[in-house]
Amino acid sequence: MPVKVAINGYGTIGKRVADAVIKQDDMKIVGVAKTKPNYEAKMALAKGYALYASNKDSLAKFDKAGVKVRGTLDDLLKECEIVIDCTPEESGYKPVYEKANIKGIWQGGEEHSLTNLSFNAAVNYSECYGASYVRVPSCNTTGLIRTLHPLESSFGIESVLAVMVRRATDPYDSKKGPINAIEPELEMPSHHGPDVQSVLKTLNIHTIAVKVPTTIMHLHAISVKLKRTATPKDVLDVWSRSPRIKFVRGEDGVKSTAQIMEVARDMSRNRSDLYEIAVWEDGVHVVNDKQLYYFQAVHQESDVVPENIDAIRAMMKLEKDGKKSIEKTDRSLGITG
Ligand code: NAD
Repeated sequence: MPVKVAINGYGTIGKRVADAVIKQDDMKIVGVAKTKPNYEAKMALAKGYALYASNKDSLAKFDKAGVKVRGTLDDLLKECEIVIDCTPEESGYKPVYEKANIKGIWQGGEEHSLTNLSFNAAVNYSECYGASYVRVPSCNTTGLIRTLHPLESSFGIESVLAVMVRRATDPYDSKKGPINAIEPELEMPSHHGPDVQSVLKTLNIHTIAVKVPTTIMHLHAISVKLKRTATPKDVLDVWSRSPRIKFVRGEDGVKSTAQIMEVARDMSRNRSDLYEIAVWEDGVHVVNDKQLYYFQAVHQESDVVPENIDAIRAMMKLEKDGKKSIEKTDRSLGITG
């Protein structure tokens, strides 16, 4: 019997996770909960998802708008075995899920301390096997883990400095900025470094972040001091055997995040999502045998989606072998890299 999955918070991440769940043969969506009867709620209905209002107040809004729901989140939680919480950070649903006695997955807006288990399929699938509560770290953190974990395993890492050029907001959002400014994050390290350490516990990493007026992707400039010598080819060989990394080439005309998203559109995936971390093959450089520099780009709306699917599989004990889960998820989503 497929595992029954509910989505609480059907926004940027929630709707993508829902669409990825329905592509699996070992899990299914029993419903999605929303606060407002907006266009996304109407699209959810049009796609055939069972729609629920977040609470009694939002139920009144759905009724007033004439958008048909099956009940409230409390009703939805009775139908599911696991809930994927894709609400904004600190929405505070943990006691609700505990009361309903169901498992839960949160997203990167939450602190690691909410679950004390932060998930990355390639790193700690087995640690999360059978767990009740798990957090999938943010898009940036997931991006850093995807390329740094294989480097740590193959060459050892002395230290990392990652400078993150962050998108201002998501493409749908016409409220946030900056529109015409560059905004440094004055906290040092930015929260991303400690967040990476919630999964790669011993990694010596420092992160710096700036926000820029773009909505399509984040870009990371990364400097890694390796413990053992490596050539750019050695590094690329390791990444080519690692999941969810896609190479792009400046020489092919892929010179910016704009062309990466054009590549993603040409791949004709759902919503043009790029689940992989894009690494510029010809932007990988090694100086003095051990000092590695590279650039990568992160499609913030989608890189965490396959991780959520693998987290469901681990927590619900649907597959013991993390590698097999990754392969299954990737096949279903058309990830070949
Ligand atoms: P979003 O604003 O696009 O969607 C949030 C959804 O939750 C909306 O449908 C909203 O109506 C609903 N909602 C708002 N308040 C609610 C409440 N109190 N109860 C129930 N539902 C509520 O947000 P998002 O970008 O999908 O972010 C969700 C989580 O994913 C956050 O933790 C965020 O940090 C994380 N995340 C976001 C991105 C990204 O780039 N958007 C990437 C990775 C992780």
